[in-house]
Amino acid sequence: MSSHAGRVALVTGAGRGIGRAMADAHSAAGAKVAYLDHDPALAEEAAAAAKQRGCEAMALSADVADDQAVAEACRRVSETLGPIEILVNNAGISPKSGGDGKRSPVWDMQPDEWRRVIDVNLTGGFNCVRAVVPGMRELGRGRIVNISSVAGRTYCDIVGVHYAASKAALIGFTKHLAGELGPDGITINAIAPGRIDTPLMRGSAPEANEAARLATPLRRLGSPEDVASMCLFLTSDGAAFVTGQVCDVAGGWLLT
Ligand code: NAP
Repeated sequence: MSSHAGRVALVTGAGRGIGRAMADAHSAAGAKVAYLDHDPALAEEAAAAAKQRGCEAMALSADVADDQAVAEACRRVSETLGPIEILVNNAGISPKSGGDGKRSPVWDMQPDEWRRVIDVNLTGGFNCVRAVVPGMRELGRGRIVNISSVAGRTYCDIVGVHYAASKAALIGFTKHLAGELGPDGITINAIAPGRIDTPLMRGSAPEANEAARLATPLRRLGSPEDVASMCLFLTSDGAAFVTGQVCDVAGGWLLT
């Protein structure tokens, strides 16, 4: 039997893209999955498709930047599916307000845009961790995966400084929490994807995505499923002694 069978997983930004693939991979492995997305229609559609495949799933709509909405969503998951053992912090944004799918340079970046990126990409992860960790500590086990980016590890000319800063901070957040939560049997790791073919990626200028593909030793863009299989490993029993790590899923792009 899969080590995911019957476990309750909450995946944020699960309505599409990488989050959808990670949530679907967990439900296919037998987990009970809460699909949380900002967009209620996307969350409903994804959870309904999982249910049609015979999986136990529920849809939730919340903005991860809203701590109270996150706390309420986690309470609903625990009531409906059971205590949350797996959290995947995936919801994220990468505004390209420079026009033509390009980032804004720092001198044009508006403070509101900076704040929103930090609120969603970094504080969103904090809000979810804060909401689920008390239950995981009671259980004496838990698995948390944060979706960072290679742009959080090294310079990447596609993204804005707000995005790079938020993803680098998620790595520090992951390492610190691995130390803090390890004694309670909770592992926490980060995944740093390269260019992955999703709606977010398609928001970048096509020539930038093509340049990334050509600069990738494996000469292709990643798929959401490439990231999902790493995530499924990190939340499985096979990764029981892995914590505080940053795992690149990038085809060798921007090797650090
Ligand atoms: P995506 O296609 O844009 O999907 C992201 C999902 O998250 C959307 O359904 C979006 O819903 C939801 N979301 C956004 N803000 C949210 C919020 N505040 N609260 C709840 N849900 C929210 O993006 P993706 O490419 O799959 O990216 C997923 C994660 O991987 C992100 O953290 C991203 O930074 C990271 N990543 C992606 C790549 C890549 O090349 N694609 C590379 C490295 C890292 P709405 O649109 O309705 O807001």
